[in-house]
Amino acid sequence: MREQLLQIDRDLETLRAAESLIYYRADVGDALDKDGLKSICARRRALFADPANVALAARLAKTSTDPTERRMAHLLSLEMLGAHLDEDPEVLKLRHELEAAQYASKDTRLTTEGMRSYLSSIEKCARERIRTANALARREGFENYAVAKLAYQEYSLPALMRTLDEVAPLYRPEAIAAIAGLDAPGLSADELDRVVKQRLSFTDEQFRADDMAAVVERTLAAFGVNWSELPISLEFRPLPWGGSVNALEVGRDVRIVMNSRKNGFGLCTTVFHELGHALYYAYPPSHVLLLEGREGREGLAEMWSGIVERAEWLDLVMGIRGSDAKRILEETNRISAYVTMTFIREALFELALYDDPELDFAPLWHALTKKCFGFDETTGVYSDFVFIWPMDIKDYIYIDLIRSALLRRLESRFGRELMQPAVLQCLISDYYRPGNLSPWHERLL
Ligand SMILES: [Zn+2]
Repeated sequence: MREQLLQIDRDLETLRAAESLIYYRADVGDALDKDGLKSICARRRALFADPANVALAARLAKTSTDPTERRMAHLLSLEMLGAHLDEDPEVLKLRHELEAAQYASKDTRLTTEGMRSYLSSIEKCARERIRTANALARREGFENYAVAKLAYQEYSLPALMRTLDEVAPLYRPEAIAAIAGLDAPGLSADELDRVVKQRLSFTDEQFRADDMAAVVERTLAAFGVNWSELPISLEFRPLPWGGSVNALEVGRDVRIVMNSRKNGFGLCTTVFHELGHALYYAYPPSHVLLLEGREGREGLAEMWSGIVERAEWLDLVMGIRGSDAKRILEETNRISAYVTMTFIREALFELALYDDPELDFAPLWHALTKKCFGFDETTGVYSDFVFIWPMDIKDYIYIDLIRSALLRRLESRFGRELMQPAVLQCLISDYYRPGNLSPWHERLL
């Protein structure tokens, strides 16, 4: 492999590790080192913009006779394009403005009234961000930002639309069942989310944060792994979100931090999602450039939530079976159908806005809510997620598909009993170690 490419790979690992350390420190109580993050971003941008690096990536992606080297160069070129679109100074300025407004509204947004006034205060900036992103994408030769971002993630707009069309009817009935009997029209999207997730509150006593380390240990033992020998630590802190994983050193030092204020089966599946990330970093590919992109990383992590959301796991690890197990799995299934349907609504919302940035936000959201859930919402409140994390929402739909496809593939190879050492060995040798050698839609979907 070309020394220059390996050098870029090493530089990217240095930046990735430095970034992880900053986020880990923030998770355990330090203030987020924003200047540190800014300087890491600037260094990464400089690395991607260096004409020698740009030329090297383009040349090796076309001409290298080593398939791994060719793939790494191709992935590097894609990252360069992505940085060009997402880290443009004008776009970043608007994004930071939106982030600051979102942070400042973290208390007021809990009510519909508060959310409405917050949304009207950011509307101009949100629209400007969409217009600016579109203009940048057009300069690169794409129709709009959504088309450009999909291209650098190795997807396409027609493929995404096809997927949304196929997936929506599968989830819609259970999603509608999840909100039956609730005052859905009178609740904002966030409020409805919170109420729907309450469906699992009957599991709060059975799945306690304090017991999770032991639960993880028992689960991994079934897969032939001694938890204490893994380079992974698990700690609980009063976080404002579910949990996070930081690989301070890939393969050697991986830290999971979980929210200590939550209990219940929802917390349990989140712990295993984060454990999935940690296991991936514990058995990583040989080069940072080969680390999975977002949907691959999340899909492989989410597969571990999928292991937990099966009768086999409830029985073997928790001793829960029969109608108790059935109830937990049915409610979980209903909640995930609802959540996936909210992702579909949000993806359609975003795609419509990149297609026509002048559309009115609230009526568009209203029409999509009607289409996805069948009710007329009356709050006038829409989600602001897509303004800050553009084109990320569709990843969650792909992640769900990766999880299901992986579980199906494992079941067809190993049978219904997945909790055995050979299954983990297969994940490591077929998915973790080789790295991102081809797009997921070619591998599985
Ligand atoms: Zn994740």
